[in-house]
Amino acid sequence: MAIQKIDMERCRRCGMCEFYCPVDVIRFDHEKKEPDLRYAHDCMVCGLCEDRCPAKAITVTPEKSNAAVPCWG
Ligand code: SF4
Ligand code: SF4
Repeated sequence: MAIQKIDMERCRRCGMCEFYCPVDVIRFDHEKKEPDLRYAHDCMVCGLCEDRCPAKAITVTPEKSNAAVPCWG
């Protein structure tokens, strides 16, 4: 499933997840001021976003699948 959840109650709207994602899965929507899973199917499950998020708001699961993933859950 790759990114399982982004906890928006914890999110600080810093945009670091966009900066660290090596394959452009996460974009930061500057109008809505929130992360946006733009290309979820491309996730490599590298875990960088989960590791670097200063709010520990992102949960990445170890399994990769092609199923559509919800951003907020
Ligand atoms: S890195 Fe974490 S706190 Fe920053 S915008 Fe992304 S999810 Fe939110
Ligand atoms: S796990 Fe890696 S590839 Fe997937 S969204 Fe996070 S940083 Fe991007």
